[in-house]
Amino acid sequence: MTSVSFIPCPSYAQAPDAVRRAVESLGSLTPFFRPGQRVLIKPNLLADAFPDQAVTTHPEIARAVIRLAREAGAHPAVGDSPAGALRVTDVWEKTGFRALCEQESVPLLNLEQTGSTAFSCGAVSFTVAKPVLEADLVVNLPKVKTHSLTVLTAGVKNLYGTLPGFQKANLHAAFPTPSDMGRLLARITEIVKPGLTIADGVIGMDGNGPSGGEPVNLGFVAASTDPVSLDAALCQVLGIPLAAVPWFQHFSRERSTSISLTGQPPAPGSLRFRLPGTWRNRLIPRFLVRLLAPLLWVRPVVDSTRCIQCGRCASACPTRALAFKTNTTPRLHGQICIGCCCCHELCPVKAIHMTESWLMRRISHGRLTSTPPSEAHS
Ligand code: SF4
Ligand code: SF4
Repeated sequence: MTSVSFIPCPSYAQAPDAVRRAVESLGSLTPFFRPGQRVLIKPNLLADAFPDQAVTTHPEIARAVIRLAREAGAHPAVGDSPAGALRVTDVWEKTGFRALCEQESVPLLNLEQTGSTAFSCGAVSFTVAKPVLEADLVVNLPKVKTHSLTVLTAGVKNLYGTLPGFQKANLHAAFPTPSDMGRLLARITEIVKPGLTIADGVIGMDGNGPSGGEPVNLGFVAASTDPVSLDAALCQVLGIPLAAVPWFQHFSRERSTSISLTGQPPAPGSLRFRLPGTWRNRLIPRFLVRLLAPLLWVRPVVDSTRCIQCGRCASACPTRALAFKTNTTPRLHGQICIGCCCCHELCPVKAIHMTESWLMRRISHGRLTSTPPSEAHS
């Protein structure tokens, strides 16, 4: 039985106390932070967004962890690799992490430049940043958000940012379906093995996350030694069917079912948390998805009235499905789009909406899904 603790945290001013209590609820601070230990703190720094946009982990959560580590005599550092098409320094600036690390005199690592080690998932190679592998303790600090591809992004998905550079976008082409991506994320989780995961659920994001949704007050900090158990507990309190989230099927069932909620978990159904429009698709049986592949797709639609013609979506696309010319709105070549959502994730003005094929809408909204949501577990 793995514990997942929930501590109420109505605002970031209460983050130091909430983070401490969330960790202490797992036992005590001592097993996690020790003198002389190298601690790598891994926030979600997906994009260059301000903290109140709820796209990235709030710096006050990271500050609380830095201070806990320091108090124990450990040596904390902070590092993450944002989505491939962005400049890391822009992300540091806007998310408040440059200021945080200067104020706390903590190294802010550019994982694009620190070297990496190669691994594989089946026949596909990828690399993980060395500071993550060399740390004595990785503290994983996800933001609680929806995700148009994986429905939830939290403990497991946050570890994708330990892969430096543009490979993150390219790997979507090698792992095109949500289930494929779940398999890769499971492999990354087993390599990185974070010793502690603390989720920023103070203000999360619902709707069309991970960047195009709306900030939503959830008012908690959650912690666990296992990111898989933490994600399963989040599903429980936020009303997300486990079968809709593609990584649980790649871990042992116990990690998502044998969990004990401690502290003060929100009662199921007590929090408003709207799922992305595409979530029911994840419940369509896989044999049907394979059989009807050409007719079951999710693709982006660009809203030309909102688009500021920055070209960021085209740069992020792993299959070059978006054609972009200066001063024009990007055009989609639907035949080569794999529905990975990278463009949607990076649009700075929420001009990209993911839409489903007619048949996918019919199947998912007609509830021709594998398991009723309330019982779902793949
Ligand atoms: S157009 Fe968007 S959803 Fe389609 S492959 Fe490119 S980045 Fe992915
Ligand atoms: S859709 Fe968004 S990311 Fe793409 S060019 Fe327009 S504003 Fe930029």
